[in-house]
Amino acid sequence: MRTVYMDYAATTYVKPEVLEEMMPYFTQKFGNPSSFYGISRETKMAIDKARGQVAKGLNCDVNEVYFTGGGSEADNWAIKGIASAHRKKGNHIITTKIEHHAVLHTCEYLEKNGFDVTYLDVNEEGFIDLEELKNAITDKTILVSIMFANNEIGTIQPIKEIGQICRERKVFFHTDAVQAVGNVPVDVKEMNIDLLSLAGHKVYGPKGIGALYIRKGIKIDNLIHGGGQERARRAGTENIASVVGLGKAIELATNDLEGHMESLSALRDRLIDGILEKVPYSYLNGPRGDKRLPGNVNVRFEFIEGESILLSLDFEGVCASSGSACTSGSLDPSHVLLAIGLPHEKAHGSLRLTLGDGSTEEDVDYVIEVLPGIIERIRNMSPLWSDFVKKGEK
Ligand SMILES: *Cc1c(COP(=O)(O)O)cnc(C)c1O
Repeated sequence: MRTVYMDYAATTYVKPEVLEEMMPYFTQKFGNPSSFYGISRETKMAIDKARGQVAKGLNCDVNEVYFTGGGSEADNWAIKGIASAHRKKGNHIITTKIEHHAVLHTCEYLEKNGFDVTYLDVNEEGFIDLEELKNAITDKTILVSIMFANNEIGTIQPIKEIGQICRERKVFFHTDAVQAVGNVPVDVKEMNIDLLSLAGHKVYGPKGIGALYIRKGIKIDNLIHGGGQERARRAGTENIASVVGLGKAIELATNDLEGHMESLSALRDRLIDGILEKVPYSYLNGPRGDKRLPGNVNVRFEFIEGESILLSLDFEGVCASSGSACTSGSLDPSHVLLAIGLPHEKAHGSLRLTLGDGSTEEDVDYVIEVLPGIIERIRNMSPLWSDFVKKGEK
């Protein structure tokens, strides 16, 4: 049976060119970068090179890039680190209702420890309101953390404008750009970003590696204490092979960004249009066009539940997600779908299909071919659907 992978927002494969660069650092070039001999200098230089690749991808200075153990760690560090370093100035943080749990749960943790957090609403397409942001900032606000692009519905926020507001009001601006880096243009200087999180495994690099960009001169407390690695800001012997892989992955991703965006958004729109045309009572969650991540499709099918669609798709070899991979396994509907105003039952009937560099037109057409039958079969077993049909509304 063929396998069609459409869950690139959950994780990507490692590109062969990336793996190839990583390999020597497991077996031959394994020296501890903090030591003083040849194979150590080699690994130290490899880390410097990777830091340069990441810095180039973000348009920042090499000394503003710090490697972490992934996207979640970068988010935790940015938020907890700013909160504790600037607590004297204020205890107020602003974020949104549609953040990744790495941001949301960090904010909830801080609320239990004396911080006040404002969770901004979003509109039906997932965008925040800039006026609402302006009005939420007080003289106690120290940090605004707003994601660059949403992992479930693909909404890309007006990052540059948000950054400008924060700069004017002298509040730090952190953005979780885990889904954005490598998929849309990201420029920390142009976009007025103070802190930015990214992760390797969403851009064809390895898992368990990420980075936090911290603008020069910003005071932030450490999250991980110990040795003097990462210029004494993030302790722990460097994950050299993964650092090398992340650097290469970012380089590859940013080299051909235009081409990647163009081909992926064409596939995305083909999939969206195909599904909406073939399946009655189906709707798109999130915006259309260039304010949506190039590889993100999220559709809602009325009268049924997303989990049963996933099971049937799995049976046909299609790997998809009902919302966010982190929430699968729980019966609560996605907080993002609730935040865009969907009632529980509609949020439950949603399906996320995310495309990437390995996706083809054949993959897209295969899903458009199998999905209508699956939806029909599930609806025929759904009491919601039979009530609807009986009422003669169909
Ligand atoms: C995947 C993801 C994270 C978490 O990154 P990990 O490397 O898995 O810890 C954070 N934010 C967003 C938006 C993500 O998509």
